[in-house]
Amino acid sequence: MDYFSRSQENIETFCLKLPKIELHAHINSSVSEKTFRELLRTRNIGNTQLTSLESSVFRPNEKIFASFDDCFDIFPLIHDVTNKTEAIYKVTSDVISEFESDQVKYIELRTTPREELLTGMTRRSYVDSVLSAIKDSKKKNLDIDVRLLLSIDRKSTVEIAWETVAVASELAAASDGIVVGIDFSGNPKINDAKDFIPVLAHAKSRGLKIAVHLAEIVNAQESHQLVELCPDRIGHGTYLHPEVGGLHKSVEFVKKHKIPIECCISSNLRSASVPNVEDHHFGYWYQQSHPVVLATDGKGIFQCSLSGEYILAAKTFQLNHDELLQLSKNSIDYIFADEETKKKLKFQWTEFSRSLSKSEQ
Ligand code: 5GP
Repeated sequence: MDYFSRSQENIETFCLKLPKIELHAHINSSVSEKTFRELLRTRNIGNTQLTSLESSVFRPNEKIFASFDDCFDIFPLIHDVTNKTEAIYKVTSDVISEFESDQVKYIELRTTPREELLTGMTRRSYVDSVLSAIKDSKKKNLDIDVRLLLSIDRKSTVEIAWETVAVASELAAASDGIVVGIDFSGNPKINDAKDFIPVLAHAKSRGLKIAVHLAEIVNAQESHQLVELCPDRIGHGTYLHPEVGGLHKSVEFVKKHKIPIECCISSNLRSASVPNVEDHHFGYWYQQSHPVVLATDGKGIFQCSLSGEYILAAKTFQLNHDELLQLSKNSIDYIFADEETKKKLKFQWTEFSRSLSKSEQ
């Protein structure tokens, strides 16, 4: 019997040691409780206020947020604490180390360049801090390859979106391959995504990859307009298929172009975006062999880990060890980095499979 024919190895143990790829992680939503507390302690605030802030951001309950809107109220609380470049540097560094400890071998972080008048942080100094943290993490010889997408927050202006694409274009050529693309995110109930389509189309024409949040709520027309942009990956896509209010033609387009879907199961459960795990759209796409990638979205505020997402998917959709390994390995094909990087990662996965077979002998 080979390794995969036997199912004795506990699924949790397997998912923890499985090499993984993280493609949907917002930096500020990924901040750990530990980092958040350390940042708070540098502030001159009393213990009561500190505890109250901590418990607003890191909620103990299973269903953390009462509604999808509710989670968008948390971001400003985190942003208030990460309002200077030193804090952004620390959060980015800590998030990278934490993912590395979870056997994540390649990660694409995403973050919205932010200006803070109070501290003098500019959108550019924000990006420079994130890049410094990523570059410094390379010097620490961590076993994780880190890339970056700059996010466009739809709550912001189209003018800022153009600026973000200009900065990403410049850095794509001048960041040693770290900046690879653009993410479109933010509260889907705010502003019309249509206004941002020319900006995203321009980003694509400049050779930047684009990952687009869409169909997080039922808004079939808007989702279809974004789908027709043919993004390189789709964030969530929760309400894309007709059974939940989406359009048949959107699904057809996504299937025809094999656009990978970034599935963040815990995030969707905890933000009350899907009612229960069995109905999560991961099942819909996975069962049709459509490209899907498991991701955490915000491991801090949604209190999850990438290993945990694999365990949850395994238990809910009855995935065995071999299927889990394939799922993580297939994710390599959906990364935004070059072919050389994909080749290196695939080699790591092959080595991992070999080590499993050896452990059998
Ligand atoms: P940051 O860009 O500050 O590093 O991460 C937090 C930001 O990411 C939020 O302000 C929001 O714009 C975006 N974001 C985080 N999680 C989600 C999500 O689940 N859906 C959408 N649409 N945007 C999100």
